[in-house]
Amino acid sequence: MTAHLPLKQGSRLVLASHNKGKLAEFASLLAPYGITVLSAGELDLPEPEETATTFEGNARIKAEAAAKATGLPALADDSGLCVSALGGAPGIYSARWAGPEKDFPAAMRRIEIGIDGDERDAWFISVLCLAFPDGTTFCFEGRINGMIAPEPRGAAGHGYDPIFVPENETRTFAEMSDAEKNAISHRARAFELFREKCLG
Ligand code: IMP
Repeated sequence: MTAHLPLKQGSRLVLASHNKGKLAEFASLLAPYGITVLSAGELDLPEPEETATTFEGNARIKAEAAAKATGLPALADDSGLCVSALGGAPGIYSARWAGPEKDFPAAMRRIEIGIDGDERDAWFISVLCLAFPDGTTFCFEGRINGMIAPEPRGAAGHGYDPIFVPENETRTFAEMSDAEKNAISHRARAFELFREKCLG
């Protein structure tokens, strides 16, 4: 434990993401801890280029850039869907597969075309990185295993939620309520590790 942790009640924390779905999930996960959450969007922070080759590397780039720009602790997440039959793709390229138009139906069709067989195992990864303006960082990884559904189902959630069926479930993430997804998701699992160490 360093002098930085835990974050105290009333601390300000920048969420270094412009993704509305992720911001909403984090805001609800952080709500009980009395942390004042500011988003990169409302602070008009630029989105740094994600040039790393790992989830952790990209989470670190985003968190460090926001902490440096604001002088506040910043939390970033890098996440994605990994499909076994595609050798782990789209992985860190999950957002990029949807293109600038954020065309997730097209990205989900690309996954279905690529699977070409019975091997439908997949997993979501989320790496959370907390960075301080002095360069200190802490990273936490969460994962949930599951399967790719034969066709998209459900209207809730965001991104690839309509094609991901988490283990021990028959519904896709997009057929679950926010609370049900937040109880088991990769992001919730990474958040739990972050909570234990950083929120005291
Ligand atoms: P990032 O902003 O670079 O971390 O992009 C992560 C991308 O992975 C998102 O844009 C989504 O496409 C996908 N992704 C990550 N987490 C989830 C999730 O919980 N549900 C659906 N898609 C997700």
